[in-house]
Amino acid sequence: MQRSQISDQVKSALLEISRALGIRHERVLDLYSYVSPETVRILDIVERGGEIVGVRLSVRSASSRGTWYYVAVGIYGAKCTCKWNVVRNRTCKHIVIGLITWCVVSLLKLGKRVDLSRLGWLKKPGAGSQSF
Ligand SMILES: [Zn+2]
Repeated sequence: MQRSQISDQVKSALLEISRALGIRHERVLDLYSYVSPETVRILDIVERGGEIVGVRLSVRSASSRGTWYYVAVGIYGAKCTCKWNVVRNRTCKHIVIGLITWCVVSLLKLGKRVDLSRLGWLKKPGAGSQSF
């Protein structure tokens, strides 16, 4: 796949994430631009049946220096070690970063989009209700 095609695919994946979570597209773009080798480390890519069904990663805290959160996102759910997710059980920005990373890895590695409509957990009450 050509590089420009990939960037178009990434753009539409980001739009889809913002719609699925009900958060502003600009906020998703901000989180996407936060992703770099210094801030996000991919720990594991879970492949099954020729598709990527989840990723595990660590995300550096933007506010607290030296703190990393561990995030797992997949077709059955999402977890993060930050307080917002552990205590309040809300979809935090690290999970959104995990979702972005998953979509991008799937596009780059397999040229396939992640079907967000399959992710039942995106629709649970409280998802996306953090003030992004
Ligand atoms: Zn978190």
